Amino acid sequence: MNKMIIPYGRQTILDEDIDAVVNVLKSDYLTQGPCIMEFEDKVAAYHGAKYAVSFANGTAALHAAYYATGISEGDEFITSPISFVATANGGLFLGAKPVFVDIDLETNCIDHEKIENKITEKTKVITPVSLAGYPVDLKSIRAIADRHNCMIIHDAAHAIGSKRDGTFGMEYADMAILSFHPVKHIATGEGGMVLTNSEVLNKRLRLFRTHGITKEMSDMTRFDGAWYYEMQDLGYNYRLSDISAALGISQFNRIDSNIRRRNEIAKQYDDAFEYIEELNAPPSFEYKECENIHSYHLYSLRIKNTTKRKVFFDYLRENGIQAQIHYIPITSQPYYIERFGTRTEDYPNANLYYDTEISIPMFHGMSDLQQEYVIDMIKKYIW
Ligand SMILES: *Cc1c(COP(=O)(O)O)cnc(C)c1O
Repeated sequence: MNKMIIPYGRQTILDEDIDAVVNVLKSDYLTQGPCIMEFEDKVAAYHGAKYAVSFANGTAALHAAYYATGISEGDEFITSPISFVATANGGLFLGAKPVFVDIDLETNCIDHEKIENKITEKTKVITPVSLAGYPVDLKSIRAIADRHNCMIIHDAAHAIGSKRDGTFGMEYADMAILSFHPVKHIATGEGGMVLTNSEVLNKRLRLFRTHGITKEMSDMTRFDGAWYYEMQDLGYNYRLSDISAALGISQFNRIDSNIRRRNEIAKQYDDAFEYIEELNAPPSFEYKECENIHSYHLYSLRIKNTTKRKVFFDYLRENGIQAQIHYIPITSQPYYIERFGTRTEDYPNANLYYDTEISIPMFHGMSDLQQEYVIDMIKKYIW
C-alpha cells in the first residue's frame, strides 16, 4: 500500500458545490449579490439567531463583534488562553486589554468559576470559546456577565451546529462568531459570520463591514439625493463575496450529515483507544440528536506522559498522519508576553493542556480506510 497522507482537517467539495459557484460566476453579482443574504438567513435560522452578518473571514467577524460591543482603549475583556490567537487579537485591534482565565481540564474551555476573580470595573466583554466543538457552558457565563454588565462574544469557530440542553445558545451570548476556513466544518475559501439577536448589534456589524457607511435613510443625518450615502464611523471592507457565499450555501446544506459523521468518527476513536494506557480521549459529551451536540471540529487526544508527546507526534508525521497541536497558549506567544507580561506559570491548566494535546485527523470526508490506518498506526506505536 502507498503511504497515506492524512491531514488533521480537510474540506469536502462535491460537484454540487462547484455548480453553485459556477452559477454565480455566470450571474450579474460577484460581490454582495443574492447569495449573501440567503447564506446569512440560512445560518441564522439554523442557530436560532435573528440576524447573521457575513464577513471576509472569522478574524474580521471577531474584530467586528468586539467593535459592536463598543469596547475600546482602557477597557478589558476576558478570554481563554487556549484558542487560536485571533480570539484575543480581535479585542486588541480596538485597543482593549486581554485578561486570561485558565481552562477547566474537564472541558478544555474557560473555567467559568474563575472568571469572577478577574472581573474589574473595566471588564466589558467575555469571550468564551467552544474548543474543538465542545459546547461551552454559556448559561453559567451569562449569569456572571449579567452581574457585571458585560457582553458575551461566543467564539464558535469550532462549534457550528453545537448544542447544549437543546440550544446553540443565542439566548445567552450577545454574539457568536463562525469561521468558514477550509479546516472548519464549512469551507468558503475564506469566510466568517457573526450571529446576534440584537437589532442594534446587527446594525453596528453591518456598518463596520462596509467602511462605516450606511445607505439606510432612517439612519442618516441628512439626505442629498438618491446617490447619497453616509460614513458615520471608521469601518473596513470586510465583505464576503457572492462567490464564497454560494459555496457556503451549498456546503451548509450538508451540515447535519457533516456533524453526524464527525461524531461517528469520534466514537470509533474513543472505542479504539479506550485501552491504551498512555492516552486519554477528549472530553466526551453525550450525543443526543437535537439536545446535546459536540460538533467535533477537532479530535484532541491527550498524552498522559508529557515527555513522550514530541516523539509520538514525530512518529505520526513520519507515517503521513498530519497531526497538529491545538493550541500553543496565547499567553505564551512572544507578542503577548512582551506587550502584556503574560506568564506561562499563571495558567497551569492551559500549560498542562498544551504539553499533552495532540489533534489527530478529524474531518467529515475521512474514509473508513483512512481512519483504520490512523487507528492502526496509533495502536502499533510502542510507548
Ligand atoms: C479559525 C479560528 C478563528 C478565525 O477564523 P479565520 O476564518 O481563520 O479568520 C477564530 N477563532 C478560532 C477559535 C478559530 O479556530
